[in-house]
Parts: sequence; structure tokens; C-alpha cells
Amino acid sequence: MRTLQASTSYSIGISSVGPPAPPTRHRHGIVAQGVVEPTEKSVEIMRKFSEQYARKSSTYFCVDKGVTSVVIKGLAEHKDTLGAPLCPCRHYDDKAAEAQQGFWNCPCVPMRERKECHCMLFLTPDNDFAGQEQTISMEEIKETTANM
Ligand code: SF4
Repeated sequence: MRTLQASTSYSIGISSVGPPAPPTRHRHGIVAQGVVEPTEKSVEIMRKFSEQYARKSSTYFCVDKGVTSVVIKGLAEHKDTLGAPLCPCRHYDDKAAEAQQGFWNCPCVPMRERKECHCMLFLTPDNDFAGQEQTISMEEIKETTANM
């Protein structure tokens, strides 16, 4: 089984060409697509959504809950700023138009159709990084993203 490298910060991979990148970590500093801290209310909404959708889709959170946390916060930030939980792991030329179009609003079409979550929020059991949990607390989210 592959392991995730220990580090202190996360970023959400950005790619405008080719397949989107999953959340990644950087050794030096934080490189995050979103710099605005989401509201606690939206984080809670996306936390609950993530738990419910993991159960519904029979998928699991990453063995490293820091990955789960950063994606949930990215979704919450988009919910605050765009009114929709646009996938935080992609580059968009026009975020508002993408949010309105809906293809990449979570759960995105690839997830709904093929259980493909490139953010590593929802992992099928055969994924090397899949943990055994479908729950994450607000405390876990705060703890794992405290230094970001
Ligand atoms: S399900 Fe789709 S929109 Fe939601 S986090 Fe995963 S890749 Fe992004």
C-alpha cells in the first residue's frame, strides 16, 4: 500500500490542461487555490453532505483526514463565494459560469456516473488511499487544517 508523505501543509492541485490533479501537499509553504476562509456554517453543511454522500455512494474518506478536510473547506469556500460547491481541485477560467453550468458542482458528474473523485474526497474501497471511515468531525477539520 502506498503511503502519503508527512508534511505540514496542503494545497489543491490545479491543472488547466489534462486531467485534474488531486489535492497535493507542498513542503514549502501553502499553495492553495482559495485563500478566503469559508464560514463555519458552510463548512458544517459540506461536512454533513460529505458524510451522507460517502455512505450513499459506498465510498470512504482518505486515510489522511487532512486531505478530506482541505477539500471540504474548498467546497465550503465556493459555496460561500459562488453559491454552489464547485469542485475545488480544478482551474476555471470563469468560476461563476462553471458553478452555474453544474457539471463540476459536488458531487460532480464523473463522481455520480463512475465514482471518480479526483479530489480524493470520496474513495472506493480498492483505492490505496481509502481509509475505513465515512465520518469526519468539525474538530478533525479544524485540527488538520489549523496550520494552513
Ligand atoms: S466528487 Fe467531484 S466535485 Fe466533489 S470533490 Fe470529488 S472531484 Fe470534486
